[in-house]
Amino acid sequence: MSKKFYITHLYPKEMSIYGDMGNILAIQFRLKKYGFEPIYQSVVLGQKLPYSTDFYFLGGGQDKEQAIVFEDLLQKKERLLKDLNKGTPMLAICGGYQLLGQEFLTGENKNIPGLGFFPIKTKAPNSEITSRCVGNLIIKCNLPGFTKVYLVGFENHSGQTHFVNPIIYNSSNPLLDGNEQNHESNLGQQAFPLGEVLYGFGNNLEKNYEGCVYKNTIGTYLHGSCLPKNPELTDYFIMKSLELQIKDHRLTLQEFNQINKIKIDDRIALLTKDSIVKRFEKEFLKI
Ligand code: GLN
Repeated sequence: MSKKFYITHLYPKEMSIYGDMGNILAIQFRLKKYGFEPIYQSVVLGQKLPYSTDFYFLGGGQDKEQAIVFEDLLQKKERLLKDLNKGTPMLAICGGYQLLGQEFLTGENKNIPGLGFFPIKTKAPNSEITSRCVGNLIIKCNLPGFTKVYLVGFENHSGQTHFVNPIIYNSSNPLLDGNEQNHESNLGQQAFPLGEVLYGFGNNLEKNYEGCVYKNTIGTYLHGSCLPKNPELTDYFIMKSLELQIKDHRLTLQEFNQINKIKIDDRIALLTKDSIVKRFEKEFLKI
């Protein structure tokens, strides 16, 4: 009988714009190829988090929905952060990414606090910042073991996201400008950008890095949706979850090694990604 793998999708109605549901479909597809039975658990406003989660997903949303969702997310903060801090993987896209930060200042100067998991702050346009960041987004992945991988997607956000102290300037992350204070983050580990922007805007208009990685949680502006075009990232989340399952004695090393031998045919996804990269590579870094 296939092992169950619990996927928890937070606020699918309010926070799933620009096709973010595609990320759920992509991870469900891949889990089945690895012999798992994906169990989809949606969490709506007012609902408690499920008992078991192997992967969390939170998509993007409009400012208004973010404010509504945040109030509800506060009720789940303790349990969610407990899971994330123990290493349960999570993908948070755009608005969802912003809500995992320390605060989000909307275009109407409404301050939506964040869960404070990521050392980031986001400021939406006002008189200083007028343009939305919209278009194709291509980044060079910064995840250890994936640094030769390009990640592609589509971004559409007003929010400008910046890393805030504390953040580690870490030699393997030349993306950061080195002004960040080089001390242990108050989150107890290292947070760093998901990648270097090659085409598009990414976190903000000034610096050329995108996203945030802390523990096994990734925040990114890559809509598109993200995972169907970036199978490497889907594998990243699955393998991180399985590593945790080994630690929790819910999976044996032998079972893990068996899964690792399964090779999935990603030709269509990789050809799609490659065609996007080829379309824009002449303009890399000329933003
Ligand atoms: N409302 C946020 C912004 O405009 C997030 C948008 C989104 O999730 N695509 O920055």
